[in-house]
Amino acid sequence: MKLLEARIQQDGKVRGTEVLKVDRFLNHQIDVKLLQEIGQEFQRLFGDCGVTKILTIEASGIGIACVTAQYFGVPVIFAKKNKTKNIAGDVYTSKVESFTHGQVYDIIVSKEFLHPEDRVLLIDDFLANGSALQGLIHLVRASGAELVGAGICIEKAFQPGGDLIRGMGVRVESLARVARMSEAGGVEFC
Ligand code: 5GP
Repeated sequence: MKLLEARIQQDGKVRGTEVLKVDRFLNHQIDVKLLQEIGQEFQRLFGDCGVTKILTIEASGIGIACVTAQYFGVPVIFAKKNKTKNIAGDVYTSKVESFTHGQVYDIIVSKEFLHPEDRVLLIDDFLANGSALQGLIHLVRASGAELVGAGICIEKAFQPGGDLIRGMGVRVESLARVARMSEAGGVEFC
């Protein structure tokens, strides 16, 4: 998606070799008009898949998922990062390793909101090592719902997540795929 790539070139900041900061438009200050374009693009890609629910993970996926959901006319569920030790039996749960902080945490979705007859589209801001998507895929599979695919804003294609998730047989559509990046050289797309 040329618009997103241009915005990354203009306002993204590379930190070290691994992290791309997009705080100016995607996950701190949010450009809602850009999110609308992103949502429409996901609708173009997945609009004929019979999606009934959009699933994301807190916090930065929520805004993107909500704007996208307007074009699908379906609810958004966000997996919560669980803080309590005792996980009640009325939730689906999975483990995710945080890309930015390294620690492992549980994510949960109430069984009330995912059912076997659902067709679920996953939405997230970044795909790096694939842990967040793997956690979400696990929740969908545990519920018996059908996984339609994953819509990602920015895939860092030099990290292993894309191959990992596609290797699981999941359709992944990334709107911007970063081939390489550096603080000195900036961002290059696939
Ligand atoms: P993964 O689980 O694929 O390793 O990482 C995906 C999650 O980590 C995303 O939900 C995103 O919040 C965060 N993330 C991964 N890479 C980046 C990055 O380069 N920049 C930012 N801002 N977040 C990232």
